Amino acid sequence: MELLNKSFDFRSDTVTVPTQEMREAMYTAEVGDDVLGEDPTIQRLERLAAEKVGKEAALFVTSGTQGNLIAVLTHTKRGDEVLMESEAHIYYYEVGGMAALGGVIPRLIPGSAGIITPDALRKALRVENIHYPTPSLLCIENTHNRAGGTIWSPEQVKAVAEVAHERGLMVHMDGARVFNAAIAQNCDVSELVAPVDSVMFCLSKGLGAPVGSILAGSKEFIRQARKCRKMLGGGMRQAGVIAAAGVVALERMTERLVDDHALAWKIGQAISVIPHLKVDLERLKTNIVLVEVDSAWGTADKLVEALQMAEVLAAGSGPQTVRFVTHKDVGELDGLKLVETLTRIMRG
Ligand SMILES: *Cc1c(COP(=O)(O)O)cnc(C)c1O
Repeated sequence: MELLNKSFDFRSDTVTVPTQEMREAMYTAEVGDDVLGEDPTIQRLERLAAEKVGKEAALFVTSGTQGNLIAVLTHTKRGDEVLMESEAHIYYYEVGGMAALGGVIPRLIPGSAGIITPDALRKALRVENIHYPTPSLLCIENTHNRAGGTIWSPEQVKAVAEVAHERGLMVHMDGARVFNAAIAQNCDVSELVAPVDSVMFCLSKGLGAPVGSILAGSKEFIRQARKCRKMLGGGMRQAGVIAAAGVVALERMTERLVDDHALAWKIGQAISVIPHLKVDLERLKTNIVLVEVDSAWGTADKLVEALQMAEVLAAGSGPQTVRFVTHKDVGELDGLKLVETLTRIMRG
């Protein structure tokens, strides 16, 4: 069978396909009805995930979006205010689920490279007044997607979580790429998430699993989250077949994320000297390369189309911004092809 050429796909790390080891683990996975608590592979994945992030318990969910939604629904009640950075994925890309299904109102705090300072949070937290909604949850994002994979340090997480907790708020981390965040600053993921009450991370992005994310937190939080997942239709039966790939993702795929970061850095540096393109190298810490296209040349859409003609796939991230994401299924040669193609296009 002729397969489409899948290389040169820099749209997202979500395009990664399962490894041979994952497929074998999936084939032989021991399974049972997980809604009845009888799938040993899911239980193994949940235990392993909880251990890795240093939380009491974890829950296997269908997607990052579902994990974030469950966290919001579990931490809040209708009419509550949920604070987050202005460009947060939860606000920007999750179909308004928190409003549609949770009845909560988002409060956006402008950040710098996706990071909120304790002062900005303090300013946004108003003193109790009969007119105001009740703030009950702060969401932070690490790495920050729209800011270009920027990272929060353990100290930055701790500082805002302290302010939130002092004011009686819970803290959730949208850590879709939290393993990227940890390895990029050479710290343990458990240290990074220790100050937050819950964390979601994706198995299906850089870690290469085909399906699924993890939500982790206290035992009591996960008990409620499990019930919430059932309500949302996310109670899966013999899903050990997909959880098996998640186990491999956690055991084998976290360390290699440094390769993605190294490749992104190489690509970013090379692109930064191409005419009409700008890369903020200060922000380039993980696997997302944001490239600003000079409007004198054209738009982000125009560049994405020109690249596509040359069989290189990229994604727009704003009218003048194109995004390239590195992952396990693109290598040095793909990076070279990307840079060469860009150079040719821009030199016209
Ligand atoms: C991808 C992503 C999600 C959502 O994950 P899905 O599995 O695609 O639903 C949430 N937050 C961030 C920061 C992401 O990058």
